[in-house]
Parts: sequence; structure tokens; C-alpha cells
Amino acid sequence: MDRRSFLKTTAVGAAAVALAGGPASVLTGCTPKKPKVALNLSFQTGIAVGESYAEKFDYMESLGIVGYEPGGQELVRRYDEIAKALEGRNLKVSAICAGFRGFILAEDPAVKAEFDSSMREIIDAAGQIGSTGVIMVPAFNHQKPCMPHTIETRNYLCAQLHELGEYALSKGTAVILEPLNRGEAFYMRLVADAAAICRDSESEGVKCMGDFWHMKEETSDYGALMSAGKQYLRHVHIASRARRVTPGEDGEVDNYVEGFRAMKELEFPYYMSFECGCAGDRKEANAAAVELLRQQWEQA
Ligand code: MG
Repeated sequence: MDRRSFLKTTAVGAAAVALAGGPASVLTGCTPKKPKVALNLSFQTGIAVGESYAEKFDYMESLGIVGYEPGGQELVRRYDEIAKALEGRNLKVSAICAGFRGFILAEDPAVKAEFDSSMREIIDAAGQIGSTGVIMVPAFNHQKPCMPHTIETRNYLCAQLHELGEYALSKGTAVILEPLNRGEAFYMRLVADAAAICRDSESEGVKCMGDFWHMKEETSDYGALMSAGKQYLRHVHIASRARRVTPGEDGEVDNYVEGFRAMKELEFPYYMSFECGCAGDRKEANAAAVELLRQQWEQA
């Protein structure tokens, strides 16, 4: 008996034939189709090979990179040049990497004022160029004198971020809080902590991000990104996980599948930028990394 006549003469076979030829709704009813979520890769300026913006952007497009993350000062200083070089490309500015002077938790009013003015100048440019937001850290460990790590300081931070978030929103962009590892910024280390500060800032213009390098402190990549959720997760940074070089250069530890699973479940519509050094040849490492990340994205 061949397979076809076997199917016809058994109950299981009859059901299988009915299902195979049945309406699509029968099949999708049993196995809900996962939405297809794109992996939007982005490069910071130093990651892209090339001298001019045109060379860098040509190179990025050849790898299928769709986002560009300039530094804040760079964006302000070279705005026209960047905007012109981006014209007609399948490449948009993703987030803006800091670049402001001073810091928001500075005890010295002059340093705080410097933060306020320079950050707003970057926000203006970010909004104008259609960026998803400007990345900031409330205070690095080395920035002193800094307001003490107390509940009053947290309340002050939320109030200040509320104002800044509303300003960013009025310019069509956002501020994006970046949690760092404890060696760099003890104040805000976990994605969930950044997300809670977003919530308590009570502004739609205050968002947060995850950086796979700093996320070594998290107990779970999946849990960390899910804790920010659709409401707060606005950007992601990626690097290798042992030396902060190009993803893949640290071998097996460069596994991002659990984090990618969270991003897919969140239908994350923003960008993931390379923020990393390089142990070998930048061109080869980037090409291999893009391939690796696309494979892991499929796997997630
Ligand atoms: Mg980062």
C-alpha cells in the first residue's frame, strides 16, 4: 500500500487529508501565526567604515543597515551635512548618543545649567531630523559633585525628567534613559529601574533602552527587556559580551536569542545600534556580525 491509499483508508489519514485541504482558518486557529518583526540594525558613526558620510552610508546600506546613531555634538555641529547625506537613502537617524555637557544630577548649578542648555540644543536637532530620542545617563560614577543617592534625589530626577520629556515631546522626539553597569553608573543599572523612572516621570517623552553589554548585570535578557515593555523600550545597543567588541568576536558567549525573543514579542519597532570596539578587521567583523544577528533573530 502506498502512502496515498494508506491515508485514504485510515481515520487519522482522513483527518489529515481534511486538514491539509481545509480552509486556512482551521490551521491558523490551531497554531496562531507569529507576527513578522523586522530587526532594524543601526550603526554609530565609528562603526561604519569610510571617510565621508556618503562613504559610510553607502557601506551601511550594502550591509542592509537601516539606522544611523550619531553623537549629540556631532549632530548639532554637522546637521546639514548629515541631513544631506541621508537624502534618498533607505537609512534614517535612529537614536542620538548623548553628547551634552554637564549632567542632570550635578550639585553645582552651573554644571546643571550647562546640561539643560546643551541637552535642549541636541533635542531640537534630534526632533528636526526625526530621531527616536536622545540617550542620557543621569550621572556617571566619576561625575562629581553629584546629588546623593537618596529618595529625594530620585524625586528630583523624576521631576526634572518630566520637564525634559515634555520638551522633547514638543519637538517630536524623546529622552532615552540608558542603564549602565555598576562600574560606570551605580545610580541606574537595570532596565527595570530605568523603566520605573520613566513611569514615575509621568511624561510620554521619557523612554529607556537596554544595552546588551551593560545587561550582563541583569539576571535575564528576556526579563530585562520585557520589564520595559512596549510602553518604555525605545532603543537597544549591542556589543560582544566578554570584551565589548563586535558581536560574534567573543564566540559562544555572544548569544542574544533570549533578548531577541523579548524584542520580537514586544514587536519592537525601533533600532538596535552597534556600540562596540573591534578585535580584528572592522569590515569583516561587521559583515559576520550582521549575519550572526540575523540568524539569532530568526532563531528567537
Ligand atoms: Mg550603550
